[in-house]
Amino acid sequence: MKFQVLLKLKRYIAQIIFLISANLGALGLKTGFCYPFFYCHACPAATSACPLRAIEVGVFNGEFKWKLITYPLLILGTVGVLTGRAVCGWACPIGLLQRTTGVVPKKLKKRFPIFAKIGQHKVEHYLRYTKYFVLIGLVVITPIFIGFMFTDICPVGVLVGTIPVMILNPGTYLANAFFYMALVIFILFFILIFIIERGWCRYFCPVGAILAPFNKISYLHVSTHLMIEHPSTEEKCIHCNACINSCPMGIDVPNMKRDPECILCGKCIEACPLGLISFERV
Ligand code: SF4
Ligand code: SF4
Ligand code: SF4
Repeated sequence: MKFQVLLKLKRYIAQIIFLISANLGALGLKTGFCYPFFYCHACPAATSACPLRAIEVGVFNGEFKWKLITYPLLILGTVGVLTGRAVCGWACPIGLLQRTTGVVPKKLKKRFPIFAKIGQHKVEHYLRYTKYFVLIGLVVITPIFIGFMFTDICPVGVLVGTIPVMILNPGTYLANAFFYMALVIFILFFILIFIIERGWCRYFCPVGAILAPFNKISYLHVSTHLMIEHPSTEEKCIHCNACINSCPMGIDVPNMKRDPECILCGKCIEACPLGLISFERV
């Protein structure tokens, strides 16, 4: 119990510290780095650049500016090798937003079985590949050949960039050609995160798509031991599904092997009554 409360608290504290530090631009702090998570450079309080925007500008019109391309990839690659997708569970402000909105889909699942069934459907598993298409298609290919960029229609750009700018400078905001498309995607983004827990992270986030494969090789990861032998006794998985029901990413936890979708939130570790799940360093 003590471990559960501590872990929950630690994660809230970490997420709030990262949220505040991502917005210290309001006090004039600019780091010159790009964020190792999904956050917008157009936010009036931003301290750093959006990693996706840097990549898009780096490949724009086929004029490859390698410094701009390698810089965010090196930052994301370094955190990925060390901690896999832990920034999604512990640092990203959009992860914190979805942690907050996640109470709604959880309640919907309990009240209306149809919502639980959506999460178990085979199609849901394949939908998770969409984020890789968004990354390759809209962050890399369309900027090279058409000039259209993912960040032109990014819902987080609307949330922390467009809306605050419109509030701070009423009457002076000039909508660009993508304004209405971005607005529709923004509304769909909010509908999604209120009906599917971490819906944006599961299906669409291009930063999540960059970080996810690192779970396979990362130094820090989450491991399940379906049977633990002690000198006098042994603990076996009793298939109670407590870990699966607690997982915000809808992972089949007992059978996961360094699942790319795991955000290392530790909720399954808290939930397992036998202590068969743990953070591992290797
Ligand atoms: S998947 Fe994207 S939005 Fe979700 S927590 Fe990770 S970086 Fe943030
Ligand atoms: S498997 Fe466990 S640590 Fe990973 S996302 Fe699910 S609950 Fe969190
Ligand atoms: S919570 Fe523990 S005992 Fe229950 S299914 Fe998951 S691993 Fe097995």
